[in-house]
Amino acid sequence: MPAIAIRHLSKTFEQKGNSVEALRDISLDIEEGDIYGIIGMSGAGKSTLVRCLNYLERPTSGEVIIGGRDLGTLTEKELREQRSDIAMIFQHFNLLMQKSVLDNVCFPMQIAKKKKDEAKKRALELLETVGLADKADAYPAQLSGGQKQRVAIARALATDPKILLCDEATSALDPQTTQSILALLKEINRKFGITIVIITHQMSVIREICSHVAILDEGRVAEEGLVSEIFS
Ligand code: ADP
Repeated sequence: MPAIAIRHLSKTFEQKGNSVEALRDISLDIEEGDIYGIIGMSGAGKSTLVRCLNYLERPTSGEVIIGGRDLGTLTEKELREQRSDIAMIFQHFNLLMQKSVLDNVCFPMQIAKKKKDEAKKRALELLETVGLADKADAYPAQLSGGQKQRVAIARALATDPKILLCDEATSALDPQTTQSILALLKEINRKFGITIVIITHQMSVIREICSHVAILDEGRVAEEGLVSEIFS
């Protein structure tokens, strides 16, 4: 059973009598433990697809099946529980600027009502994992872009997700920092067995760490398969 099965997924946005078909009949299998890339030009439907994967966006038709559960059949409460298995990181990091690095990483555990001292211990372990143990008391404004993304990764891991969605996570970073973040994602994938889905417009990112790739074009899957085969 794939970690994520996408079946005949379509999404149409209706706007002032205009309709935009952002996704058209997408079917993909993303296997557990895979690093799966989704690449396409601006407007291809990448963000819409990734938002459909955790039902932040409801598909117009089709199914998203995660760990065997069709998200379309879940109640709001079940959906919230399911979402705790799916973490996300973003291009602009989305850190809480008024909170320290440690408090940013503790935040999702605080929401999940984990005990304060346990949350702190786990957050410090995660900061160690992402190489920022010495920045626990710093504030996001004092960090470089790469360091901010490391904090975001530590925060994403705080609730032990099974899936990590990365939406253009390296697009705001220089090439060298991009390399180091990709190396970290690879290590996390290997160490914790987390399935990683990478949304990007950068071919180099796909080549660097993905085993499988789907190329989106105008809302359709233009090509899909092993990176080694697609690029050979
Ligand atoms: P990408 O992430 O690949 O740049 P998007 O998923 O953001 O692409 O957008 C795909 C298409 O859907 C675009 O034509 C975009 O204008 C349209 N779109 C995305 N979100 C909305 C929305 N909320 N309302 C209307 N159209 C949208």
